[in-house]
Amino acid sequence: MNDKIRVRFAPSPTGYLHVGGLRTALYNYLFACKNDGTFILRIEDTDRKRYVEGAVESLLNTLDIVGIHHDEGPVYQSERTELYQKYARKLLDDGNAYKCFCTQDDLEKMRGEQRANNRDVRYDGRCRHLTEKEVQKNIEAGNPYVIRAKIPQEDSVSFDDVIRGEIKFAWKMVEDQVLIKSDGYPTYHLACVVDDHEMGITHIIRGEEWVTSCPKHIFLYRSFGWDEPVYAHLPLLLNPDKSKLSKRQGDVAVEDFLKKGYLPEALVNYVALLGWNPGDDREMFSIDELQKEFSLARIGKAGAVFDLEKLKWMNGLYIRQLPTEILAEKLKTYFIEAKIDISDEGKYLKVINFAKERINLLPEIIEQSEMFYRDLDLSKADHSIIRDETSKQMFQYWIDELSANAEPDSEFVSTLVKKTTEKLGVKGKKLYFPLRLALYGKEHGPNIPQLIAILGQDESIKRFEQLLEL
Ligand code: GLU
Repeated sequence: MNDKIRVRFAPSPTGYLHVGGLRTALYNYLFACKNDGTFILRIEDTDRKRYVEGAVESLLNTLDIVGIHHDEGPVYQSERTELYQKYARKLLDDGNAYKCFCTQDDLEKMRGEQRANNRDVRYDGRCRHLTEKEVQKNIEAGNPYVIRAKIPQEDSVSFDDVIRGEIKFAWKMVEDQVLIKSDGYPTYHLACVVDDHEMGITHIIRGEEWVTSCPKHIFLYRSFGWDEPVYAHLPLLLNPDKSKLSKRQGDVAVEDFLKKGYLPEALVNYVALLGWNPGDDREMFSIDELQKEFSLARIGKAGAVFDLEKLKWMNGLYIRQLPTEILAEKLKTYFIEAKIDISDEGKYLKVINFAKERINLLPEIIEQSEMFYRDLDLSKADHSIIRDETSKQMFQYWIDELSANAEPDSEFVSTLVKKTTEKLGVKGKKLYFPLRLALYGKEHGPNIPQLIAILGQDESIKRFEQLLEL
């Protein structure tokens, strides 16, 4: 027997990749890596009405960027309709499915009546009872039909879920699910079960919202006489207020997170912790480490809160972990966009090295570094500080001292600070606020040696002179 683990990620290409989808893909991928299994990518594109042009390309690209690589596929369900039809015929032949000729109008009327009578709204199975002759007549008349599962009407079905334990459903709560639509395409339910079987999927790891589909799927497995896979349904993703995580694209699309300046490594690390934990308080994991540590046994049942603030914080840690040269390369596009001249490579690296401590998202780099490149905006500054006589004397003193030193290093500047106190009698706020305003545009911020090290001799002198000219 081949007991090699085979898992799949089976997205429907209806737009963007939701963070929940990223988590499902990641857990399947990690589970396969950890167990030396196979990870298959399957595109569930049989719902032609919801198909979005370009969605598959974007999905493949995003998975590639975040480092989730499939071993087999992508397999497109839309290219396999004959296979699903073959199995639908088998269900019909075996009496496990039936043709349903109900029109949209019929169905709406039925639902209206069910609602009016406070009954559960669900297909009532009226076409189950059509005779062979009636079916034939409908077909000859060219009436369109769907194929529905003949779900048992008594007893219940139960199955084990690795994460949730035993799950039980009464059959009478399960609708006679449409398996083949009138356009000949299968529904998700049939295509999913047929493919999971044909592809030898051993474990189905997916979001909790699919639990209610399991009875329909198990009905199909049992009708075909196939082995059932192991199920693992992942806990819901929640907003911090414990409501179900937003579906609004800008808030949850992985593509948008990447555009907003989240690093793929940080996203993967954060998403890995939405349901799974390592059993201790470690939080930083590279994808390689996750491949070694991941296990289904360490996934909890409780909903996992998607906390954007925490993700941002983690992204900041990842930014700071990057070597300055690599980060500087990544950030160039933001400077080009902001029309900031970064041709002085030495200064640019110093700026990045300084500003990376202060950002959590890549685009924030501009607001943390433009003061080193652009004329300072002092319109909101306290001008009494700048115009103060002692401040002016201090600026002049610094111009003179800096002029004599081409490369004012930190030691030189620290000494200069001390000398300023001795010579002009200024210290504390009276010393630091004017200097910082002159060099950085704000009273509070980094220390003076650091600022001068970044700006260099010429630019520092220029900034003091500009204030004296005010
Ligand atoms: N196509 C389904 C989705 O969009 C797949 C569900 C499953 O994994 O069975 O999530």
